[in-house]
Amino acid sequence: MKISEILKNNRVTVSFEVFPPKQWDKIESTKAVVREMSKSTPSFMSVTYGASGTGAGFAREIAEEVKNSGTVPLSHLTCLTSTREKIRSVVSGLKESGVENILALRGDIPEGFVFPDEQYFEYAYQLVDEIKTLGDFCIGGACYPEIHPESKNRVDDLEHLKQKVDCGLDFLTSQMFFDNEKFLNFVEMCRVKGIEVPIIAGIMPITNAKQIKRSIELSNCSVPKKFYRIMERFGDDDKSMQQAGIIYATEQIIDLMANGINNVHIYTMNKPAVAAQIVNGLGSIID
Ligand code: FAD
Repeated sequence: MKISEILKNNRVTVSFEVFPPKQWDKIESTKAVVREMSKSTPSFMSVTYGASGTGAGFAREIAEEVKNSGTVPLSHLTCLTSTREKIRSVVSGLKESGVENILALRGDIPEGFVFPDEQYFEYAYQLVDEIKTLGDFCIGGACYPEIHPESKNRVDDLEHLKQKVDCGLDFLTSQMFFDNEKFLNFVEMCRVKGIEVPIIAGIMPITNAKQIKRSIELSNCSVPKKFYRIMERFGDDDKSMQQAGIIYATEQIIDLMANGINNVHIYTMNKPAVAAQIVNGLGSIID
């Protein structure tokens, strides 16, 4: 099934993200994570992709497991360090596996990376163009409520986002954020700019102190005072931090929905119990 169908008529959706293992010996345990997460009946499940493209086989295997578990898969695909030929072969593999949804991404720039030549894609919009020629896929893209770290300013960021959407994106999924106002303002700016596709809110339940630091560094997102206080008070105690992180994420989703946002994507960090607690906490709100 295509995600564009799932998102139709402004239905409430809660989807999950999983990441594939880096080694084959972890493939079965990751599949077990997928099966466990499927029990929470997410609207779809996305499978991340290593920036270098080396784990493409693992990602495909996990996407197949998502499908076999009765959940709609969304396969991420990055392009910066892969030749066009490699991209074509990965997309053809996904098609064979019955994957109908692709999140078209550029990938982060590795340190010291020099853009090689025309055999490569420089930006995600070029990947969107390419995927369009390779089959009838539903294609999503990434967006950044607090601006992509490489963008000069908000105007440039929105300009490039519009260009990417106009290449034929069906939806956008946002980078994580902890301050709902940032996301709500961003959605408004997108609508003013003429970006009309559904924008799915990316929610990261922070469940331990190490993850907090890394997530914030990577995403460039701001942290509200309320969340800082939670980290200061509970960051040293994993159990308390996990519980506080789940409750914070659940409250964030409730507030978003109260503000008319119906589509949320949970960065589960491969923790089925965390995903399940959030879904259970939302209860009839998402029925
Ligand atoms: P783009 O849309 O190409 O944008 C990248 C930068 O280039 C932006 O600053 C943009 O403003 C600028 N730009 C775009 N077009 C132009 C143009 N024509 N001229 C000049 N500048 C331009 N990474 C992974 O490795 N694997 C994953 O699975 C993965 N999943 C992700 C999922 C989500 C929801 C998000 C938000 C990010 C994910 N990432 C993933 C990270 C992502 O690859 C990085 O954030 C990357 O730096 C940008 O990717 P993009 O697709 O947004 O790039």
